[in-house]
Amino acid sequence: MRIRTLGDPVLRQPAKPVTQFDRRLRSLRDDMMTTMYEAPGVGLAGPQVGISLRVFVFDDGESGPLFVANPVLANPEGELLEEEGCLSIPGPYHETKRFSRITCRGSDVDGAPFEITGEGLLARILQHETDHLDGMLYIDRLDDDARRSVMAELRRLELEPDPPPVRRVLRRAE
Ligand SMILES: [Zn+2]
Repeated sequence: MRIRTLGDPVLRQPAKPVTQFDRRLRSLRDDMMTTMYEAPGVGLAGPQVGISLRVFVFDDGESGPLFVANPVLANPEGELLEEEGCLSIPGPYHETKRFSRITCRGSDVDGAPFEITGEGLLARILQHETDHLDGMLYIDRLDDDARRSVMAELRRLELEPDPPPVRRVLRRAE
């Protein structure tokens, strides 16, 4: 699946709840897992692959891989300030404030309810991916200065010119 990046309107739309727990949802889960590992990333939400549904997949190396439909966050505790990045904002990372511990209630691919409580990285993933389903990105949680520095970094990366053709020819001649 193609990962949508900043500027794609699907990233800003609130996603719709999952109502059909069928073969198509299972195949979406599989495709999202594959896309996440290929990226590579530790989490991927529906809107990031152009699917405006309340689903995400993640693998933090301990509790994953896991698919969550219709997640709802509960019992937030503590505070965490760590570098955060996003597959839809390729390049920059920035310290982002999150709860250090949180519970996520949702359904599995068959519609069976479950909950998972995470601390540290897992807590951050659960918050980051649930934000995506509300059309929210981590840069929205930064203060103005930090947000500006992420945008500047993005512009710098996008404007990085390819080596001029002449140099390529010379290199080939070596
Ligand atoms: Zn993201």
